[in-house]
Amino acid sequence: MQTKAYAAYDSTEPLKSFNFERRDLKATDVHIDIAYCGVCHSDIHMAHNDWGMTVYPMVPGHEIIGRVKQVGTEVTNFKVGELVGVGCMVDSCRQCQPCKDHLEQHCEKGMTMTYGSPDAHMPGSFTQGGYSSQIVVDKDFVLKVSEKLDIKALAPLLCAGITTYSPLRQWNIKAGDKVGVIGLGGLGHMGVKFAAAMGAHLVMNTTSPAKGEDAKRLGAAEVLVSSDEKQMQAQAGSFDFLLDTIPVAHSFDPYIPLLKFGKTLATVGATPSDMHTMGLVFGRKIITGSLIGGIKETQEMLDFCAEHNIVSDVELINIQDINQAYERVMKSDVKYRFVIDMQSLQQA
Ligand code: NAP
Ligand code: ZN
Ligand code: ZN
Repeated sequence: MQTKAYAAYDSTEPLKSFNFERRDLKATDVHIDIAYCGVCHSDIHMAHNDWGMTVYPMVPGHEIIGRVKQVGTEVTNFKVGELVGVGCMVDSCRQCQPCKDHLEQHCEKGMTMTYGSPDAHMPGSFTQGGYSSQIVVDKDFVLKVSEKLDIKALAPLLCAGITTYSPLRQWNIKAGDKVGVIGLGGLGHMGVKFAAAMGAHLVMNTTSPAKGEDAKRLGAAEVLVSSDEKQMQAQAGSFDFLLDTIPVAHSFDPYIPLLKFGKTLATVGATPSDMHTMGLVFGRKIITGSLIGGIKETQEMLDFCAEHNIVSDVELINIQDINQAYERVMKSDVKYRFVIDMQSLQQA
């Protein structure tokens, strides 16, 4: 089916209008009219080919909210008109151990990413994401979302939400734990909300002192400015967990001393990093990574959001404003996630 979109055509040009063919509906597919799509920093990394894997033209977008337009003959759990979400992946092998363990993002054959993966349904082409009017997705990779929450503010839950919820759950964050979120952007602001909702004492670790008040409104108990060495020293050895969302190359060295003995820093940024291992060795500390979350856990996160009334703080834009939004995200000037109103694609 003919689909309107915005795409990156190469690593340096601004995103521009693009038309392409989506696959026809199969028996197990859900056809979704896209209402909103969040703008993740990963979209920018991919558009700019920061990870060296981009095939152009590439339609970014993996924080998708929309309504079911049509379902395949074998789909019983979704109805036409229902509000649904699609996140960072649209398929996996479903046979390997990680897939059986509901960790499809770690599929041994490689998950099919929502955009930028070879498309098994259209050999020779690549999947295309949510900066588009519609998408066709296998029912097992479609999420149910609450109609009670602000619909446009739900979109970022599909990536920023699950990517911060999952490590907080994996590292068993509980009431009273002292947790630091590093970087108050799209992921960071969701990390603050989740950690606070889990009862943690949340410390916002930021390079932008001006974001301090917002951090407290979002749920932070304290604000720690990472460039202020005195402040950093005063908090040394006091954290149970750190979640690092910095999107650019950086050293872990300033952050490791903040952890208590034996505690963990989880990073979600796929960036070059260096560090002195001394701080790890002496404190038996752990640095780990985390990659989105499985479909089952994503549904659990969405249900947690409905229960705790959690959505993203968003700035709504038209698709025609996407390139300025990218510029602002790269300057850390985002409060705290851009979401595209996909109706704007219909404008000339
Ligand atoms: P974002 O909205 O741009 O937020 C990142 C924040 O990091 C900024 O707002 C800024 O916060 C801080 N920051 C920026 N440059 C910095 C620097 N040089 N030093 C220290 N702090 C800096 O980005 P995002 O969408 O949250 O994504 C964050 C990263 O996670 C990206 O690399 C993205 O690709 C990655 N990601 C990973 C996964 C996964 O599954 N692992 C999923 C989604 C995204 P302050 O102003 O508060 O300092
Ligand atoms: Zn993302
Ligand atoms: Zn698999």
